[in-house]
Amino acid sequence: MLLNCIFAAMNPEDIGLVKEFLSTPKKIIITPHKNPDGDAIGSALALWHYLKQKGHSAIVIVPNDFPKFLKWMPGVENILIFEKDSGPSQNLISEADLIFTLDFNDLSRTGGLQPVFEASDATFIMIDHHQEPAPYAKIVYSDVSMSSTCEMVYNLIEFLGDREKITSDMATCLYAGILTDTGSFKFSSTTSRTHQVVADLIARGAKNSLIHNRIFDTNTPDRLHLMGRALNNLVILEEYNTAYITLSAQDLEEFNYKKGDTEGFVNFGLTLDGICFAVIFIENSDEDHIKISLRSQGDFSVNEFARAHFNGGGHTNAAGGRSDQTLNETVERFRNLLVEYKEQLST
Ligand code: 5GP
Ligand code: MN
Repeated sequence: MLLNCIFAAMNPEDIGLVKEFLSTPKKIIITPHKNPDGDAIGSALALWHYLKQKGHSAIVIVPNDFPKFLKWMPGVENILIFEKDSGPSQNLISEADLIFTLDFNDLSRTGGLQPVFEASDATFIMIDHHQEPAPYAKIVYSDVSMSSTCEMVYNLIEFLGDREKITSDMATCLYAGILTDTGSFKFSSTTSRTHQVVADLIARGAKNSLIHNRIFDTNTPDRLHLMGRALNNLVILEEYNTAYITLSAQDLEEFNYKKGDTEGFVNFGLTLDGICFAVIFIENSDEDHIKISLRSQGDFSVNEFARAHFNGGGHTNAAGGRSDQTLNETVERFRNLLVEYKEQLST
């Protein structure tokens, strides 16, 4: 059986420690990053189902709200949103024995939860595929080669000898996260193992076609029109094989922006022949900064670019960041920065 191989990325001592921790009922918190995406919500909920099944008292706490296209996942109604339920969240965290942090590499990615976590005596377990993990967790399962945190949660369950305990609800959550984090199995992080995992999830009850439909076919007319505006605002800098999109607060307002409406827009630039670097700058009046998403194809590291210039990070080919300047100033700065990357961007 293809799946019966053991993966080296989590060391056996750590697997033993997790087994030992989970051998008696524990109070467990599961938290993904701020502005959680499909992988964040999918991995958190799958792990939640698993830990409940094992007899633990578990709760998923997310830093802030998340888009409607993720709100159908099994168990989603039990998630606590820290920005709305900060009192209960703080109490639960202060009583927790174990805290699983999923799909991020630094506590600063949890927004307002960061000081609450820093004050906690619980044991932290990190499961994540972003570069440069910060040293806050006792147990670290970090593997930047992984397609998604969902694939890693699947692996963890396998390491613990519980693959047969994957229910259709767990399979559904894991499938959704792998689907979204691989750009529908397109990104280079998608391996034959990813496909084997996904095949097993379908066999265990993930309804692949229905999940695609729930994630991608729930557009509103406003969102499609906003997409039209984004495409109209696209600027192509052929000299740098770069394309970028801007969306102002006014653009968002005009099309009644809802959380999640701009998801995936950054990828349009990369669909242009020859473009290897695509960026979107979004001025959201809910946030006091410009949100930046960066994508690349090939060796150009948007993680390094975002870290160096926009207080962000992520993966080699997908990263995020922010700017405290105005939209125009941010774009101006970005365009000036490209000059020093010209050589890298033209190879
Ligand atoms: P997105 O552009 O979709 O928000 O994020 C792309 C990737 O970069 C995701 O894996 C996300 O977790 C990561 N990311 C997004 N924003 C930030 C940020 O501000 N800091 C860091 N370190 N990573 C980010
Ligand atoms: Mn992820």
